[in-house]
Amino acid sequence: MKLAILTSGGDSAGMNAVVRAVVKAGIIKGCETWVVREGYEGLVRGNTEAVAEQSLDETPIDLPDTSSTTDGSTNLVQNLRFGDGDLLRDGTGDHPGTRSLKGRYIVRVGFDDVKGWFAEGGTLIGTARSKTFRTMEGRLQAAYNMIKEGIDALVVCGGDGSLTGADVFRAEWPKLVEALHAEGILFSRISAEKVALHAHLKIVGLVGSIDNDMSMTDLTIGAPTALHRICEAIDNINSTASSHSRAFVLEVMGRHCGWLALLAGVSGGADFIFIPESPPTTESWEDEMCQCIQRHREVGKRKTIVIVAEGAIDCNLKPIKSEYVKDVLAERLGLDTRVTTLGHTQRGGRPCAYDRILPTLQGMEAVEALLEATPDSPSYMIGVQENKITRVPLMEAVKMTRSVSAAIEAKDFEKAMSYRDPEFKE
Ligand code: ATP
Repeated sequence: MKLAILTSGGDSAGMNAVVRAVVKAGIIKGCETWVVREGYEGLVRGNTEAVAEQSLDETPIDLPDTSSTTDGSTNLVQNLRFGDGDLLRDGTGDHPGTRSLKGRYIVRVGFDDVKGWFAEGGTLIGTARSKTFRTMEGRLQAAYNMIKEGIDALVVCGGDGSLTGADVFRAEWPKLVEALHAEGILFSRISAEKVALHAHLKIVGLVGSIDNDMSMTDLTIGAPTALHRICEAIDNINSTASSHSRAFVLEVMGRHCGWLALLAGVSGGADFIFIPESPPTTESWEDEMCQCIQRHREVGKRKTIVIVAEGAIDCNLKPIKSEYVKDVLAERLGLDTRVTTLGHTQRGGRPCAYDRILPTLQGMEAVEALLEATPDSPSYMIGVQENKITRVPLMEAVKMTRSVSAAIEAKDFEKAMSYRDPEFKE
């Protein structure tokens, strides 16, 4: 099996550990392993003709001096670190001892290329939101690029959008291959045997998202690290808030999902938390909040922490804004109040231990799932439920995730919560 992995959508800690696990498990199981840089955009762009021609007639790509490595790896990390991995700059030339990745988005990798990647933040192979892949022409180009390189299996690590893209791609695959035939593109340039190997595409999805907003899995890759980042921020704020007896309103990420806000509040000792799934039940939530904080102050608390999830709403579904919460605390309780928006600090930095363990176990499972895939089996999403790594039909999980957002928008919070229940059946 020739197996490629890409990361797509918003980055999250643990994506590099996924790449490492998939590459290593793939090689151990006898697969040829590739990475696709810059998400689906890299799949669409493929490799420039000079490189492409080499792989068309199966001539090995001119690899760099690999005498220091054991498996023909391509010094990928150095290339990426020296700027050659940048989609916009598109390469700055060779660094001594490394091979330029300019014009190469689909790159063969070996064991040593992903050495130590579990400890790196973000995604070293890059991620992007690709408009072109949303079009049939883009996906046609992506299919061509994959067949040309001989790749027949794809692991996608991203959010629900990326997994939807994966499902669309797989469902459409026979049609794409047919269209490439009809235009005479395949047989004129790629051997019939090679084309025949690609009658079906095998795809597996892994959820990389800091929001923990995917149904049918308990935890997404990157969410635990983001939670750690928020906790660290609250710890820092707690000391200064306490010193000055101040109130802080912290805005945290999570979109429609309040998981980060709720658990950060629990682990950081927040006084009040606003999450989308459980909005205030009355129009006078300001009174409720102020009474609660007043009580805390009366028993001697010198600091106040209020957490507002990005998607927090009131009982009329209007967004609850941090600035407004600040004004309420300042005007009604006379508290010296500041707003801190944690923003992208929540995304970055080294993955915590669990964001190394989970992607490692799930990456290994992804390779197993691909090796066992048949034309009739559904595409799977690798999840975790009750501490066990699971395989669930990818599209069911995406559909249920979308239903949660729709239920929240329709004010049906009970239904939204039931969709998040792993036992839920429609
Ligand atoms: P995040 O949760 O961080 O937003 P995401 O994976 O949901 O991550 P999206 O921007 O929704 O992020 O999707 C990432 C990419 O997946 C898109 O840029 C697009 O290339 C592809 N994609 C999403 N939906 C589709 C679709 N319906 N058809 C084809 N491709 C899609």
